[in-house]
Amino acid sequence: MGLHPTPLMRHLCEELTVVLHNAPGVDAEAVRALRESGVTVIDGSVGRVIDHDGALLVELADGTALPADAILTGSRVHPRLEALEPLGLEVAAHPAGIGEVLVVDPTGRTSVDGVFAAGNVSDGGAQVLQAAANGSLIGAQIAFSLAGEDLQAGARPSGVQVEWDARYGDGEPIWSGAPNGSLVVEAEGMPPGRVLDVGAGEGGDAIWFAERGWTVTAVDVSARALARLGAEAERRGVEVRSLVRDANDLVPYGTDRYDLVSLQYGSFPRTPEQRGLRSLLEAVAVGGTLLVVGHEPTWTRETVDVAAQTRMYDPEAFVGIDEIAATLVADPVWRIELHETRDRPAGASSGHHVQDVVFRAVRVSDTDAAS
Ligand SMILES: Cc1cc2nc3c(=O)[nH]c(=O)nc-3n(C[C@H](O)[C@H](O)[C@H](O)COP(=O)(O)OP(=O)(O)OC[C@H]3O[C@@H](n4cnc5c(N)ncnc54)[C@H](O)[C@@H]3O)c2cc1C
Repeated sequence: MGLHPTPLMRHLCEELTVVLHNAPGVDAEAVRALRESGVTVIDGSVGRVIDHDGALLVELADGTALPADAILTGSRVHPRLEALEPLGLEVAAHPAGIGEVLVVDPTGRTSVDGVFAAGNVSDGGAQVLQAAANGSLIGAQIAFSLAGEDLQAGARPSGVQVEWDARYGDGEPIWSGAPNGSLVVEAEGMPPGRVLDVGAGEGGDAIWFAERGWTVTAVDVSARALARLGAEAERRGVEVRSLVRDANDLVPYGTDRYDLVSLQYGSFPRTPEQRGLRSLLEAVAVGGTLLVVGHEPTWTRETVDVAAQTRMYDPEAFVGIDEIAATLVADPVWRIELHETRDRPAGASSGHHVQDVVFRAVRVSDTDAAS
């Protein structure tokens, strides 16, 4: 224990004896001052404490017995870091010698990126008021840190392109080339116009549209997928405009507006400002249709034994159909025409997905006109 409480004890008792008990790093100057002020300081260690019906005795290791009216023992503080041990957080001695604390900077950042600490774990000497105030301060710092990370993520490429290019690989096509069955059911009766195919992949849907007289813009984050789309469109003698875009880009689809915006099993990460969802909705012209088809999502909520298998897809991290529907349902700019779960039409190839969720909505007016 540090010697800092001993001057207080000296105020409270007529006779004070301090046993250093082999404490490491004892301040020699503090010991000298105590001795000169009349405190007995013993440079030995305690063997045991004896209580004879209230008569207290401290027996030192060398057998010396010290009678006492009261005995105080110094304790040392240690952050309980067992559960966090793999992180390798840096610990240091508390400056007052009362034990160890987590090393933090003034904003509560520990030595490990993304881990903050507040209160007694980073200052074992703090009382309730300081600890609580520190918690409040560090909480604000964590909020700033998270907002800063979101800002950085919004400003830099998402890495999704790399991921999808890797999935497409540089070999054979990974999809059948056939249009999605639910899309065909929904779109085959529509008069051809301008269609934006978001997440067009290798172009099964886009080429199907082009062959039926639609003016097609196909967007995908993977340049590899769109190269295959372009080659197939050329082979079939149809025209498809391709744009390599991340749905979460700042302005992924420019200022063009479309009679049909189609998102088939497409998914893009949710961001705090919902940029991807806003861009998708803005691309639909007044009188145009938004058609979203996705996998029936029950399987994503099934419990997975994470010891045996990694959960492949976290639906909470992506913008899904239910979220799109919830956004539009109360918006007078939109009229929802369809939102249902149904069997996937025969012929569509898929391993374990047999049902689709189909969502169709029409933009009835401009956002500005409605507001
Ligand atoms: C004996 C004693 C007397 C005190 N008297 C006073 C006083 O009179 N006035 C005053 O203002 N202050 C006093 N204090 C100080 C006060 O208790 C602290 O300042 C305050 O409690 C610090 O709050 P905290 O939230 O930082 O830590 P704590 O209150 O210690 O809270 C930390 C919590 O984390 C839990 N925890 C630890 N490890 C894990 C883990 N691995 N997983 C999950 N949970 C974990 C602990 O069980 C604990 O509940 C006293 C302290 C002590 C020890």
